[in-house]
Amino acid sequence: MADQIDIEKKERSAEEAASNNFIHNIIERDLEQKTYGERAVHTRFPPEPNGYLHIGHAKSICLNFTTAMKYGGKCNLRYDDTNPVKEDVEYVDSIEADVKWLGFQWDERLWASDYFPQMYECAVRLIKKGKAYVCDLNADQMRDYRGTLTEPGKDSPYRNRSVEENLRLFEEMKAGKYADGEKVLRAKIDMASPNMNMRDPVIYRIAHAEHHNTGNEWCIYPMYDFAHPLEDAIEGITHSICTLEFEDHRPLYNWVLEELEWVQPPKQIEFARLNLTNTVMSKRYLKALVDDGSVEGWDDPRMPTIAGLRRRGYTPEAIRDFCERVGVAKANSMVDISLLEHCVREDLKEKVESRHVIMDPLKVVITNYPADLTEEMELENNKENQALGTRKLPFSNELYVEREDFMEVPVKKYFRLFPGNEVRFKGAYFLTCTEAVKDADGTVTELRCTYDPETRSGSGFEGRKVKGTIHWVDAKTAEKIKVRAYDYLMIENENGETILNPESGREFEAYAEPSLKEAKAGQRFQFFRHGYYIADEKLCTEEQKVFNQIVGLKSSWKK
Ligand code: ATP
Ligand code: MG
Repeated sequence: MADQIDIEKKERSAEEAASNNFIHNIIERDLEQKTYGERAVHTRFPPEPNGYLHIGHAKSICLNFTTAMKYGGKCNLRYDDTNPVKEDVEYVDSIEADVKWLGFQWDERLWASDYFPQMYECAVRLIKKGKAYVCDLNADQMRDYRGTLTEPGKDSPYRNRSVEENLRLFEEMKAGKYADGEKVLRAKIDMASPNMNMRDPVIYRIAHAEHHNTGNEWCIYPMYDFAHPLEDAIEGITHSICTLEFEDHRPLYNWVLEELEWVQPPKQIEFARLNLTNTVMSKRYLKALVDDGSVEGWDDPRMPTIAGLRRRGYTPEAIRDFCERVGVAKANSMVDISLLEHCVREDLKEKVESRHVIMDPLKVVITNYPADLTEEMELENNKENQALGTRKLPFSNELYVEREDFMEVPVKKYFRLFPGNEVRFKGAYFLTCTEAVKDADGTVTELRCTYDPETRSGSGFEGRKVKGTIHWVDAKTAEKIKVRAYDYLMIENENGETILNPESGREFEAYAEPSLKEAKAGQRFQFFRHGYYIADEKLCTEEQKVFNQIVGLKSSWKK
């Protein structure tokens, strides 16, 4: 069995080299050979509703839905709810919202727990065929009997119970006669199999627990490896795409359907799960962050959840593009998060309007500009997309610029403000810094400048060239906004361990051009020279706008 998997692994990697999507190659061969007769390709996305979906799930969603779309097939949304754990309608609602937001629509929305009666019937059929037995070994004993990777296991003393006895005991398990863990139903396969999953795996266990869907109807529940192939088969799934950890479970997946003589059984295909740098993708870990208050909630803009990415300002287009670029691989690897950032930058580049925002203000007073005059400057909304038009910005004798756009003693190649230097104020005039006003500690509190009326932007002035261009806002009409800037939620410490970044978020006040007062929740902008930002969908009010940083302007991603 292990050899078989090895051979397949080699074949697959050769296939993978020949195509950028080996899954599509498999499907095309099945279509050619009519493996599924006239049936259309049918995939499914099977989340367990025990948390919010994350970017790893987005990869699986994109793959399952786009594969179905490509071949004119169908894709189900199936809740894999065979565990009687507490689940929340909140999770179910969020999963549906996330799938839709990503741009996909399922054909059917189904619950695996609806198949409990059929699964039970299937287990009974296996017992009748002599392919399953009730075992009384406890968990410790079972481990001892199981053997190791290098040694075969031993048969359970209960392995040769008669069909009649097994049927009776299984019936009694179902009727609630036994306590949790007292008995299990096992598949009768091969205790010497080199594949540990085939050493008489447990397929039903006792759990006296209430199920969200079936209540107390059942006290036995099917194990994943038995339930999943049946869920797929019952729904008529043709290609069951899952992650690599399940590769060694495939022989069991196939065994279940073979023993039940399923016609045209679904085919499990594994691909490498998405791993991202600076990101933890485990619902359990993410839930702990939510529960212990490390983050604002599942939709905290730093979270790798789809809800978090949405609130952060990521677009569905960017996430789909990212998943496409990552591709499907047969070997696990780590994808650099800068690729995701690159994708959102690419998507927003020509879509959003630019605005002036001063994050760390330094006042500028123009000494030769009339104190009672305010002009309207016309600025392009998007240099790369003229269709986005222009907007007006007030300009007066008092402005704010970024503190870092001034240096009293300039370093080499510094072309911005320093005493005596002339700089272009974006969309306005050329200004020359004449003096830096300081407080008692020597901190610069204000810059005095003069402007040249000849140099007004758009006037066709070509007299002098200046090297530096900076942005500004009018101090008299500036809108105070809140900005939430982010660093990665997860970082590596000096021992190379991934830890929670103690400083992953920072909130501060900034001065914005007045038009941002009109920003609508969820609206995205480029803050000129800073990056992309979104008006937070929850925190923005009429009086106070709050913006989340989506991503900076510069890419650290190398093609
Ligand atoms: P987690 O470990 O985060 O709880 P999970 O795999 O248990 O994730 P499920 O709800 O069972 O979560 O997953 C639904 C589907 O999403 C499965 O088919 C699973 O393989 C897929 N999936 C989960 N994480 C990733 C990932 N990082 N990359 C690709 N697919 C993933
Ligand atoms: Mg799971």
